[in-house]
This record gives sequence, structure tokens and C-alpha cells, in this order.
Amino acid sequence: MTSVHDAAVRRAELASGLAKVQERIRAACMAAGRAREDVQLIVVTKFFPGADIEMLCELGVTDIGENRDQEASAKIAALPPEVRQRLQVHFIGQMQTNKARSVATYADTVHSIDRDKLVIALERAAAAAGRDIGALVQVNLDAIAGADAIAGAGDAAGPARGGIPLDGVAELANIVAAAPHLRLRGLMGVAPLGVDPGEVFAQLAIASRDLRSDHPGATWISAGMSADLESAVANGATHLRVGSAILGSRPLLG
Ligand SMILES: *Cc1c(COP(=O)(O)O)cnc(C)c1O
Repeated sequence: MTSVHDAAVRRAELASGLAKVQERIRAACMAAGRAREDVQLIVVTKFFPGADIEMLCELGVTDIGENRDQEASAKIAALPPEVRQRLQVHFIGQMQTNKARSVATYADTVHSIDRDKLVIALERAAAAAGRDIGALVQVNLDAIAGADAIAGAGDAAGPARGGIPLDGVAELANIVAAAPHLRLRGLMGVAPLGVDPGEVFAQLAIASRDLRSDHPGATWISAGMSADLESAVANGATHLRVGSAILGSRPLLG
């Protein structure tokens, strides 16, 4: 098999995964009585090579998500400039403060703001990089789901959860909003395993409504992944983070 052949096969796989997910989003918007253009697809490319990002870009993808700085910074830096220019890069993973300087050089939006120390580090890094960065407060939805939630650390199979408890959201959002180089966009959440995602996404929607009463511009609700995007759309999600349904199951790091 030639690599040209491999590339054609991969392109067809990605096109097919993307078409299926686009159809799911269309149907979910229709069912919820929402306009398709009110929901943005972010394709989560973690664990997959930059060549996949280039193909996705050619297939019309405008937004990608990554969750590890080391992997993301190398992949993004190696993209052809014309591909990079057409992409919005979303950082969606748990973040240590010592990664802020690097993340601030390539991320257009960070979805995983969950503590004031991270806001301070990211603000300083954004200022140093001379960039404005979108920021979402990540809400911990495990507590809402209660004892049914299955605790799970992040790995190749799924995202690390995390986030700030609901009662801390307003205070943290105010700190983000006061940071000159950060733009408070809204809230992000990951539904815990083993619970009805609709229940926790409905709580996230209420938290978003409360947030918007203080910060009218913070309209984003980043929720919904491959398994639960319909439920997220039904509960007002504006940004979906979808990986495996488009790219296939993630390879385990050896
Ligand atoms: C990996 C990841 C996703 C995508 O998950 P899929 O189940 O592959 O769609 C979404 N959000 C976060 C925070 C992730 O880490």
C-alpha cells in the first residue's frame, strides 16, 4: 500500500465520520427547535497526528480541540501556516499553571479554567504573548450527579473531569472577567459516566443563565461529546467537543 493510498483511505474515514456527526447535530438542532448555526462543532484531535488536522481543515472543519500542552504545541507549530490561519484552537484539558506560558502562544480559547491561580498564570502568559484568549469556567458536574457518578481519571479513553463546584462559578467568572487579556466566554462541563447526561446538562444551562445575568457576553455552553451530543444540544449547548465519533477510537499511548 502506498502512503497516497493510506491518505485517501484516512480522508474517506474522516469525511464519513464528520458527515455522520454533522447529521446528528442537524437532527438534534431540529428536534430541539434550535438553529444549526447556534451550535459550533469542535473536533477533538488529541492523540491523532497533524496530518488528520490538515485533512479535517480541507473538509471544512474550523475548530479543533486539544487537551495536552506537550502534544498540542508540537502539532500546532508543525501545521502549514495556511491551515493554522483557518483554525480556531481550543484547549480543553486539565491544565497545570506551568503550562500557561506555552498554551497562551497557540490556544485561541481555554475551556478548562477551574481555579484563580490558573487565571493569574494565563493572564500573565497572554499578556506576555500579546494575545487575547477566550476563557471558559469549567464546572464540576460530578457533584450535581451525586453518588451515581463513576469516578474516572482522564486517559486515552476519556477526558479528565475536574472543574470548580457550582457555588464557586460566579466568583471565578468575576476574576476571569477582570483579567485584561482574557475574554470570559461562558461555561464548560463534562458529564460524568454512569448518569443521565440530560440531568447534568440542564443544571449547566441554569448555571449559564445565572452567569449571563452578570456577564451578558458569556454566552457559550461547551458541553457534549461523542456519546452525549444530542442531550447537550437539547440543553442549550453552543459548543460540542467531539473526538472519537469523527476520528475513531484513540490509540493508547504505549
Ligand atoms: C477527549 C475529550 C472530548 C472528546 O471526547 P469523545 O468522547 O472522543 O468525543 C471532549 N471533551 C474533553 C474535555 C475531552 O478531553
